[in-house]
Amino acid sequence: MTAMNESANSGSSPKINLLGLPKRKMEQFFAELGEKPFRAAQVLKWIHQRGVVDFADMSDLSKALREKLAQVAEIRIPEVELEQKSRDGTMKWVLRLDSGNSVEMVYIPEAEKSKQDDDDGYIDPRRATYTDGLSRATLCVSSQVGCSLACTFCSTGRQGFNRNMSAAEIIAQLFMAEHILVAKSLPSDRKISNVVFMGMGEPLLNFEAVVDAAEIMMEDNAYGLSKRRVTVSTSGVVPAMARLQERIDVALAVSLHAPTDELRDVLVPLNQKYPLKELMAACDAYAPNAPAAFITYEYVMLAEVNDSDQHADDLIRLLRDRAAKVNLIPFNPFPESGYTRSNSARIDRFMRRLEAAGITTVPRRTRGDDIDAACGQLVGEVEDRARRGERLERMNLRPAS
Ligand code: SAH
Ligand code: SF4
Repeated sequence: MTAMNESANSGSSPKINLLGLPKRKMEQFFAELGEKPFRAAQVLKWIHQRGVVDFADMSDLSKALREKLAQVAEIRIPEVELEQKSRDGTMKWVLRLDSGNSVEMVYIPEAEKSKQDDDDGYIDPRRATYTDGLSRATLCVSSQVGCSLACTFCSTGRQGFNRNMSAAEIIAQLFMAEHILVAKSLPSDRKISNVVFMGMGEPLLNFEAVVDAAEIMMEDNAYGLSKRRVTVSTSGVVPAMARLQERIDVALAVSLHAPTDELRDVLVPLNQKYPLKELMAACDAYAPNAPAAFITYEYVMLAEVNDSDQHADDLIRLLRDRAAKVNLIPFNPFPESGYTRSNSARIDRFMRRLEAAGITTVPRRTRGDDIDAACGQLVGEVEDRARRGERLERMNLRPAS
């Protein structure tokens, strides 16, 4: 085993993982090595555009530089712990990080033209479509292992918080989906056109790593995604919203889920810290300079909890005069959640009420239902299985499969 392999497997490598460096940090890295800044663009291209992880293959670098890089740096990606493919083309992977933690990412291809293609070219991130024969697909990425915010309807929230993901671990999801996983599973060239931070974790509570990863997503020498095609979803970490806009130009989705403080305090406990008045003020400050000049408000449809006509009317009052688009998400049930999904007639009625009041409303189709629903659920399952395995082992029994 080479030194590099050893360190790649040890998890406590002193080598710097170049995967997570945006251009400005890559330039700094090369400056510290006494190299010219243009090396950054070269290496970014090798890694993110060509999927090359071995410095020896980077043929436009001198042999001496390649050897130096191999000594001080590496390009390390997580392992795939589980892969699932849905009948509808949705794919999910559980990735195992160095620390032994697991996170989840979801690939959502689209094959139909939908009304989400606005005139201005904005495409709802979770419903990206084929247009002009161009294939589109959305990758839903995680930003933390678990989540500390404990939204009551969220499987990740129920798992609690474990740790922040590094920028390298976050961007590794796009790297792997683009260069390894999708390429391996699908014969056609289905590149990822949109990324949404709607997997596990609260992106704005892992601020620097999320900004670095988003920069790499939008970097011309890397994935070159446009600012409209990278969406950060937040449950409402108010002070970080303005900071995000100062640092990077990305689309914003806000997980609203309730039109009143009384209800939101329960569903999204963070509301007790940053109530609706403060959240909406932060949204109003963000929207005018957002890539699509509006904010997407996510609203999970929970039967008899937040889905009545009264709730719709309260939501209309809240959003009527705002640059807003509503994304209605059918609740993805998980064991012992205590909630059920609103039926489609209810969702339809709710949607029509908002639309009648002039609020653009998009129902999100449920995808990948047959391979487990919401983000966080697969990991929950893997961990349950692992715990069950440990339990059985302690009892001196083997797991059934
Ligand atoms: N922490 C961020 C981003 C990750 S969650 C946030 O909360 O916005 C991404 C979206 O999935 C959020 O809108 C979240 O509320 C929603 N979600 C969580 N659990 C869900 C479930 N069981 N069914 C449907 N949507 C869910
Ligand atoms: Fe965290 Fe988002 Fe889940 Fe709330 S919905 S617990 S913020 S991941």
